[in-house]
Amino acid sequence: MKVKITETAFRDAHQSLLATRMRTRDMVPIIEEMDKVGYHAIEAWGGATFDTCIRFLNEDPWERLRILKENFTETPLQMLLRGQNLLGYKHYADDIVTKFVEKSYENGIDIFRIFDAMNDIRNMQQSIKVAKEQGAHVQGTISYTISPVHTIDKFVEFAKELEALECDSIAIKDMAGLITPSVVFELVSRLKEETDLLVNLHSHCTSGMTPISYYAACQAGVDILDTAISPIAWGTSQPPTESIVASLQGTEFDTGLDLKALNQIKKYFETLREKYEGYIDPISERIDTDVLMYQIPGGMLSNLISQLKQQNALDRYQDVLEEMPRVRKDMGYPPLVTPTSQIVGIQAVMNVINGERYKIVSNEVKDYMKGYYGRAPAPINQEIAKKIIGDEEPITCRPADLIEPEYENFKKEGEELGIIKKEEDVLTLAMLPPVAKQFLKGDLEEEAFPEAHIGNGSENDLGAIPTEYSVEVDGDIFDVKIMPTGYLQIDPNGSGNIGPIPGALTASMQGMVLKIKVNTGDKVQKGTVVAVLEAMKMENDIYAEEEGIVEQIFVEEGDTVNAGDNLMLIKPLDE
Ligand code: MN
Repeated sequence: MKVKITETAFRDAHQSLLATRMRTRDMVPIIEEMDKVGYHAIEAWGGATFDTCIRFLNEDPWERLRILKENFTETPLQMLLRGQNLLGYKHYADDIVTKFVEKSYENGIDIFRIFDAMNDIRNMQQSIKVAKEQGAHVQGTISYTISPVHTIDKFVEFAKELEALECDSIAIKDMAGLITPSVVFELVSRLKEETDLLVNLHSHCTSGMTPISYYAACQAGVDILDTAISPIAWGTSQPPTESIVASLQGTEFDTGLDLKALNQIKKYFETLREKYEGYIDPISERIDTDVLMYQIPGGMLSNLISQLKQQNALDRYQDVLEEMPRVRKDMGYPPLVTPTSQIVGIQAVMNVINGERYKIVSNEVKDYMKGYYGRAPAPINQEIAKKIIGDEEPITCRPADLIEPEYENFKKEGEELGIIKKEEDVLTLAMLPPVAKQFLKGDLEEEAFPEAHIGNGSENDLGAIPTEYSVEVDGDIFDVKIMPTGYLQIDPNGSGNIGPIPGALTASMQGMVLKIKVNTGDKVQKGTVVAVLEAMKMENDIYAEEEGIVEQIFVEEGDTVNAGDNLMLIKPLDE
């Protein structure tokens, strides 16, 4: 039986190793060669690519998709879609999901790989249904993870539910590279026996076991393997295409792909790799067997490690490493994949940095506890839930059932701002509201290629106390700045926030002001939510620290703030 190959160069490989920064203009010159290879598919869109196109590259992701489609005339294009989260970090209303899937298909996606971070099928129903209606190939996905409640029986049961929704194939999405040869052998064998679907294995080399697991999958009858052309393979990326093709040559699993053709393509990607060297974090290229101990996706904290090492404060790394599984257990063992990886990972960092567990909780964690992300695989720690949401009763229905249609609202908002030129722009706005507004207005620029790798703070001269961290989650890098309260800060960027004003409410983290919920002159109570700060893609409520009157507001919605920057002055009532 021939094994098929899906090449991940244009999505997961550069998401894993190059911070998702590959430009469309660097993809186009090699497409003609790639199109002749005979890949099963090219994974080219979705995941973090949509966000980075807008946030960092000043590229319209829809335009990228159309260009890829024009150039790939033979090979199907595949995207990774986060079910009801689409390419964002929260659930969208069904009307947005419908439009998004329709537009993705119309602009060139042939294969939709659809997953849900919780493996809650209710979060996948709508996107699967719409993709099927378009006539696309739908790949239902199992988010693979290890926990006391995740068993092979459960995964097979889930695959059968996906088959019942008429998925055309099943992907085993092993985002942390945790699957062992024996487990994959059993899981693939059972999926082949108990369903009629093609089975695709997707894994990462993080733990070092993956090439062996790929061979075990072949022996169990796997149909499709995900690989990356060698210059952007290994480490937190996929196994190298050429090596897998060569390994299977002359066996019953022969892929039939031509090594000479792959070698030409490899040469091109070698030059690209050099060009993108500045984005490569050396740690993400290594095998990291910590993943075997802590079940944390490979690159998740790699940049934090390097920062802590330079600052001689590696003891915090261990704290975060140990906190991560505790948070995951508290939350009922969600698989760690976008967005739960961010939600769990950032909460663990917060718990360690703030010295008290769940003292600061993102709105995403609150929503998770309320059931808005779906059913947790295991019961949630009730004591923690109570601390976070009090006596509020979590929902039990399909989360999207509670979301009112929202397409028309986004359309209206965008039109009023004069930033909608095509229907896709409404969807871009819906995916990433604050940054999309700037992008659609034309206020953003393509970032420069970095000289040294991101997160290498060797030029950082802030002294012995670590204040800036780069946290890498699933290949997305988040810059976090932390300041103790009351730290006297002179803003080197001169954003107008020149220093602390006594009594002012300040930002505890670097981020973007998403919402200001009060006006000057408003009376607020202690604990009133006065603003919402987006930091590390999580939304954090900012509370009034005491009862008072809003005297002055120093920031506007959309402003970027550093830790310690003044947000507003609330004058206490008793003064
Ligand atoms: Mn992946």
